[in-house]
Amino acid sequence: MSAVAAQRWYGRLHWQVFIAMALGIAAGAAGGADIVPRVGWIGLLFVRLLKMVIVPLVLFSIISGVASVGGGRNLGRMFSKTLGYYILSSLLAILVGLVLVNVIRPGAGANIAGAGGATIPELAEPGTPADLLMRMVPENVVHAAAKPDMLALIFFCILFGAAVASLPEGPRETLSRFFNAGFGAMMKMTGWIIRLAPIGVFGLIARVVGLTGFDSFRAMALYMLTIASGLAVHLFITLPLLLIVLGRIRPRIHFRNMLEPLTLAFSTSSSGATLPVTLRAVEKKVGVSNRVSSFVLPMGATVNMDGTALYECAGVLFIAQVLGIDLSLGQQLVVVITALLASIGAAAVPSAGLVIIFLVLESVNLRGPEVDAVVGIMLAIDRPLDMFRTSVNVFSDSCGAAIIARSEGEEGVDKEQEKGGYDT
Ligand code: ASP
Repeated sequence: MSAVAAQRWYGRLHWQVFIAMALGIAAGAAGGADIVPRVGWIGLLFVRLLKMVIVPLVLFSIISGVASVGGGRNLGRMFSKTLGYYILSSLLAILVGLVLVNVIRPGAGANIAGAGGATIPELAEPGTPADLLMRMVPENVVHAAAKPDMLALIFFCILFGAAVASLPEGPRETLSRFFNAGFGAMMKMTGWIIRLAPIGVFGLIARVVGLTGFDSFRAMALYMLTIASGLAVHLFITLPLLLIVLGRIRPRIHFRNMLEPLTLAFSTSSSGATLPVTLRAVEKKVGVSNRVSSFVLPMGATVNMDGTALYECAGVLFIAQVLGIDLSLGQQLVVVITALLASIGAAAVPSAGLVIIFLVLESVNLRGPEVDAVVGIMLAIDRPLDMFRTSVNVFSDSCGAAIIARSEGEEGVDKEQEKGGYDT
């Protein structure tokens, strides 16, 4: 991109993506299902490109990052801060959902049980804490990378990075330089793919609108509005407050710097597929070091899902309301805790949040054909909600990276970035 074009609004990538979104909506609405085979593949191809870089990017990023953190006490400190942030932000999100569903009561009086037509996906693997630990340790690391099983891969990379850090200077230097160089190459490749975002986003949005249309959304309007308001409160009030209070970071600037990952999270509905773009934006634009971002972001994409956590809690309470079941305070507390665990266990892919909602429903004994029917209807209209919650998931990860970078004494985290795009 030339310097002149970079200064004009239409030369900026996020504007190009916004325009592509608008064009995608128009094309999907006008073309309906017919448009799907014509342009849908463009979006899917773009997602494939993003997925292609995830495993090597995460591998190089975490190993080079952890090697520079060093082993032992430093690593332990980063780990506790990161985990502390994940739990705090997810719990705050869940509380917002809890309050809104109890105040708005979108499911009360709604007569939709039994009307489900959609097929319900298979229940994902259970997510108890012990299962989660078990999943974290790969039996075979090549298999974990090939699957890819991100939690297991991350676990191995963190250990490997710590091992590199504790080698004597000679081999440590050699390996660090190798992984740093590999990371640089992967970032460069990611930059090339990001350039294609406007075309990819057009295909993705046209496909979604062409497939679902707008009709099915009307019946569930209040439910959708409740979830969307909760996500908006978390995105525009809670997380900015965390940025200010915990990191002394100006939210306006952080939002600006995160525009590209946010628009991509929105159009791909996958924090996993967005991860390469998030990593790049947090380092190049927000100004967080590789040492912090490589630690906080890949793990965050997999386990820190504020939007999903809010959705799990609000969704289950909604189903209970539809079925006319009053959940006691104790039961709601169980929902809160299981929602947190479910969001940790949910994969960073589209609709993962909806699939894993069965886990939270089970925790308060909500099961049976009526429950399945309501979840079926929720599935039919899940995509737009998924787009919103994925954006919240990604934004929360970036806030965590910025806050932790600040707490590690990094300067220049919330500087207004001059550049309109990435230098690829
Ligand atoms: N799609 C979400 C994500 O990738 C997960 C979810 O369905 O809630 O972050």
